[in-house]
Amino acid sequence: MRLLVVEDDPAIGEPLQTGLEREGFEVDLVTTGEAALAAAPADLVLLDLGLPDVDGGVVCRKLRERSNVPIIVVSARGDEIDRVSLLELGADDYVVKPFGFRELTARVRAVLRRTGAGAAEPPQATVEVSGLVVDRRSYSVTIDGEGVDLTPKEFELLAYLAQDAGTVHTRESIIGAVWDENWWGSTKTLDVHIASLRKKIGPDRIETVRGVGFLMPTAPEGL
Ligand code: CA
Repeated sequence: MRLLVVEDDPAIGEPLQTGLEREGFEVDLVTTGEAALAAAPADLVLLDLGLPDVDGGVVCRKLRERSNVPIIVVSARGDEIDRVSLLELGADDYVVKPFGFRELTARVRAVLRRTGAGAAEPPQATVEVSGLVVDRRSYSVTIDGEGVDLTPKEFELLAYLAQDAGTVHTRESIIGAVWDENWWGSTKTLDVHIASLRKKIGPDRIETVRGVGFLMPTAPEGL
């Protein structure tokens, strides 16, 4: 799920981006209406109405003219705007600043469900595989209750494999998900990270599928 966040205030936009990424969304953050209209297609748009260049309402209408992307408008308290006019502009929902992060993610998920865009469930916040627990909210990993120290990339890699334990992931899909779709580096980086993860979580928790990729067994041998 790719979200486009349009917010010119970095004190709101940046933590919002980080928080939503931890919830498993891909997030593009832009700070102007022009950039919002030029951005790649998203599965949902979070649109601040008070933008420095183009009025947020105009951005909303233009986005709506060219696609059915779900739009949640974010307005400041006191903005002269009501639900009816927002719906006329084509918004699906709105939140008023200041808003709580939980409230916002609940709205995002509700709008995605309602519009059908969220048919594929976002990654769960917590995944457990044979005593190994990956918690995306706190970026923490424990094995039988003991904390494991991981680098951010090791964490992403482990979280990706744990999300679908028992499923083989190709090297390409892992690199695409954990590094970057446009990643041109050596695939050796992946092997290096797999090796260091195995040292930290135990060699049997990640299996190599020769010529294909890797999988995390749901019931690792030797455990
Ligand atoms: Ca603003």
